[in-house]
Amino acid sequence: MGGGATGGATPAWSVLPDEWKGLLVERGLRAFRADQILHALYRDYITDWDQATTLPKDLRESLKREFPIAPAEEVGCDTAPDGTRKLLLKMHDGELVETVIIPVYAKGGGSETVRLTQCVSSQIGCAMGCTFCASGANGLVRSLRADEIVAEVMAARKYGTLTNLVVMGMGEPFANYDETMRALKLINAGKGPNLGARHITLSTCGVVPGFERLAAEGLQFELSVSLHAANDELRDRLMPVNRRWPLAELLAACREYTLKTKRIITFEYTVIEGVNDSRECAEELARRVREVPMAKVNLIPLSPVDHRPGLRTPPEATMAMFLDVLMKRHVQTMIRRSRGKESQAACGQLRARRRMEGAG
Ligand code: SAH
Repeated sequence: MGGGATGGATPAWSVLPDEWKGLLVERGLRAFRADQILHALYRDYITDWDQATTLPKDLRESLKREFPIAPAEEVGCDTAPDGTRKLLLKMHDGELVETVIIPVYAKGGGSETVRLTQCVSSQIGCAMGCTFCASGANGLVRSLRADEIVAEVMAARKYGTLTNLVVMGMGEPFANYDETMRALKLINAGKGPNLGARHITLSTCGVVPGFERLAAEGLQFELSVSLHAANDELRDRLMPVNRRWPLAELLAACREYTLKTKRIITFEYTVIEGVNDSRECAEELARRVREVPMAKVNLIPLSPVDHRPGLRTPPEATMAMFLDVLMKRHVQTMIRRSRGKESQAACGQLRARRRMEGAG
């Protein structure tokens, strides 16, 4: 349980809708209040119990004590020319977390609505140490609690309606499995924010035990796997996690996952100039990915990072060559461009900047 259920306070945003009744009773509070509480939290979107005016004052005081709401404070917002926004959020202990929102403007019935795809962080920093990734450049600070991941979603609400959520910000979700899963179950819950499971995507660098756990949940979340190299020699160098769980083990876990859940896995392949961008690399990628039934590939041109100036974005022709090789091998492939590059909105870069400026 996020925040610890025994004795101390339990963050309100870490309680699953089904758990409210039991927790209220345990604390001598009236179970029938659960629905009003859920309505206040996830229909009225209160950020302070005093805003829950349907509840009696003494109950609000108890809720403040027992189930505090801890909103994240927006301390920075960078907007890229393409509209992508990167929010820098301050957590209760002063640590900074990044979340990125990608708005899509939809006109209908005379009014304009804004639909958001949001990318949330699961940890502050990251222990995985992938060479091309800014989030891991300074190691792991700490994991986020479930309610802090929910707080990221709540902080983005004022910019529009959440329609897709991806756990592709800072951190490795399978290295913070319980809290991440609790947050996603809450966000998915009908009496919570009610975001459909198929609109929620987890991305892992290949922490193998997570696959079996996720398959056992019986949920419909989407799963992405960051591959970036299709042989152990190269992957060991780019992603230290590969030394613990090499490709054969990772692909076997992917295979089992797809067979058990009948769900697609999307492999992410970030193309880095002169590193993993040869025709042989593309051929090898096609071959290995085909070991997994129902696999798709997303090709992503590297987003340059400050701490590794030697790593460069490949030219368009390289991306086209990769796409061509994979398509000829009948691998379903898309080229994805990371939006918001202009505002350093990709991959742990805003927080890294802040730290350098001494504001973190
Ligand atoms: N730890 C998880 C989720 C966070 S990273 C994972 O590894 O999947 C989200 C995606 O961004 C991953 O595919 C990651 O490899 C990719 N990424 C990281 N740094 C990048 C960069 N500089 N350019 C392009 N993609 C990058």
